Amino acid sequence: MLTKNALNFKFLITGGSGFIGSALIRHIIQNTKYSVFNLDKLTYASNQRNLAMVSDSPRYKFIKGDIKNIELVKEILFTFKPDKIINLAAESHVDRSITNPDNFIQTNIIGTYNLLECVRDFWENYSFKNEDFYFHHVSTDEVFGSLKEKGLFTEESPYRPNSPYSASKASSDHLVRAWNKTYGIPTIISNCSNNYGPYQYPEKLIPLTISCALQLKPIPVYGNGLQIRDWLYVDDHAKALLKIALKGEIGETYNIGARSEKNNLEVVNKICEILDKKLGAKLNNKNPYNDLITFVKDRPGHDQRYGIDPSKSIKRLKWSPIVDFNFGMEETIKWYLKNVDWLNLPEKFNMELFQ
Ligand code: NAD
Repeated sequence: MLTKNALNFKFLITGGSGFIGSALIRHIIQNTKYSVFNLDKLTYASNQRNLAMVSDSPRYKFIKGDIKNIELVKEILFTFKPDKIINLAAESHVDRSITNPDNFIQTNIIGTYNLLECVRDFWENYSFKNEDFYFHHVSTDEVFGSLKEKGLFTEESPYRPNSPYSASKASSDHLVRAWNKTYGIPTIISNCSNNYGPYQYPEKLIPLTISCALQLKPIPVYGNGLQIRDWLYVDDHAKALLKIALKGEIGETYNIGARSEKNNLEVVNKICEILDKKLGAKLNNKNPYNDLITFVKDRPGHDQRYGIDPSKSIKRLKWSPIVDFNFGMEETIKWYLKNVDWLNLPEKFNMELFQ
């Protein structure tokens, strides 16, 4: 049952200028009457243009800052007085976590610890009376490690992280759980599968593939390309996060996924096929884009398969993913072709060719 406050919720969203956070903020500002305060450090992975279409809204506020900054976080909590906090601030790229794990330990573990301690102060001294208050920590299916051919991750799956990224996310999940069990802080954790869609920084598989294809550069594919991921359209994830804010139960964890498993090679081939269809004739390309696929040395500790069982979320949150993978990929590529400048292409690149 919704409380009387439910029409006017105030959300503090951390990491709201990144890929998923910005999809969530656009969704909230465009489809509800809620207010959003976005706290984001604006790292390389963020982009303020992600929020251009909502930044003029009187219900949207932004401050550049680090979740590790105790004074700043407390000031925001005690002045903005959020009903809902959703933590998406993170370092999120596995390859970077392998070459330089430090930022991952700092933001994902220490940053989450810091937020929890600030929230504990806020909860104990102010918001304990607010029955709507919660701290929602957004996490990943990668904390569960790698699956064999069969089986799916459920909310009961053991944690077996294999990369510095997933280990840092697993650590932060454990901290959130402990702050709920020990201090009674109202928390929820969600673990989501791989997201795709517009506005993603072009180091991740899908925008990277599009970027290489447009430049006719080799498209790198790790190992044999047969690693399986469960792909969810980012707007479906944003909708799930809002559903959790409205229907989620304190202390619970929710797995979010689309039951849409594809191996990396299938994903890259799909992108090439769509680009062939959209651009091949226009650019007079003689060769199909998938000729550019180049297998490169596998990532160390590369997980073979992730697969989410989202049935608890579907049943309890009354949420369902609605975007089918083929349609979602068409939309994603259409968006990148309209926003080629997003792909950080070399200056001399002729963007008009693709529009
Ligand atoms: P992203 O890298 O696109 O965005 C992260 C945002 O956090 C950026 O805007 C960045 O500036 C901000 N940030 C980083 N460090 C910060 C700090 N110390 N203080 C404040 N802000 C900081 O990541 P994303 O893909 O949007 O992922 C968001 C969350 O969702 C992460 O926790 C990630 O683990 C999780 N997740 C991502 C996926 C995916 O496929 N992208 C899947 C499941 C879960």
